[in-house]
Amino acid sequence: MGPVIRIHNLSKTFGKDGAALSNISINVDQGEMVGLIGPSGSGKSTLLRHVSGLVKGDQTGGGVEVLGEPLQLAGKLSRRARHTRARIGYIFQQFNLVNRLSVLDNVLMGLLGRVPVWRGTLGLFFEQEKLLAMESLRRVGMDDHAHKRASCLSGGQQQRVAIARALTQQVDIILADEPIASLDPESARCVMDILEDINQQDGKTVLVTLHQIDYAHSYCHRILALKQGRVHYDGAAGELTPALLNNIYGTTSFNNH
Ligand code: ADP
Ligand code: MG
Repeated sequence: MGPVIRIHNLSKTFGKDGAALSNISINVDQGEMVGLIGPSGSGKSTLLRHVSGLVKGDQTGGGVEVLGEPLQLAGKLSRRARHTRARIGYIFQQFNLVNRLSVLDNVLMGLLGRVPVWRGTLGLFFEQEKLLAMESLRRVGMDDHAHKRASCLSGGQQQRVAIARALTQQVDIILADEPIASLDPESARCVMDILEDINQQDGKTVLVTLHQIDYAHSYCHRILALKQGRVHYDGAAGELTPALLNNIYGTTSFNNH
């Protein structure tokens, strides 16, 4: 099987500013866990949003293909492209849960757009869907909290629920944009352990942006190092030495987030 994510000559410019992404070409294979590192403003989020199909690149011939389907077509996404997007889960730095809803309902909300509109609107979910949601919560160690309001949870717990929501969507690819940037070290490790587990046990492809390089080294097989919208390193995590990092960034850690 070919790469699940194929990015070819992708560029993106916002207004008159410099390029946010310049000529990015990357392939990601099924089952990889890839860390995307770089200081604030280097283009990590922009790249991830392109892979999710939420934004379009500049019309310069480059683009993004996910699971063999082009996502960067001009105009509206085709039915097939929408279907492909439904196989991608997105995890945000700020979790994006609905505070007033229960944990279980937040996970079920992930099924909106995947069940008939009338059922989604009424919040009518089948027993099988609730069981799937509970199983996903069990997977991230949050099943005991299913009936609590989301607002009662700690940041780390909320992020675990957000991962459970993606699992309930039965996606093949997880894109996580700074999933641990707002968390204390213990919660951060817990969330990264879960992403690693999903990658290793379920074979889901994970693309995660991190500005903490040590986490990328501990958890990712492969690291992409971005600087000013360009890929300066793409290879094994173990071979991205402090000397090499220093060469690229003039530092070995980013603290500007
Ligand atoms: P990172 O996630 O690595 O911090 P971003 O992808 O958010 O970097 O940003 C890359 C560059 O693109 C930055 O210079 C940022 O200001 C710019 N940028 C990102 N999104 C927008 C936008 N919606 N409008 C204008 N500029 C943007
Ligand atoms: Mg970002």
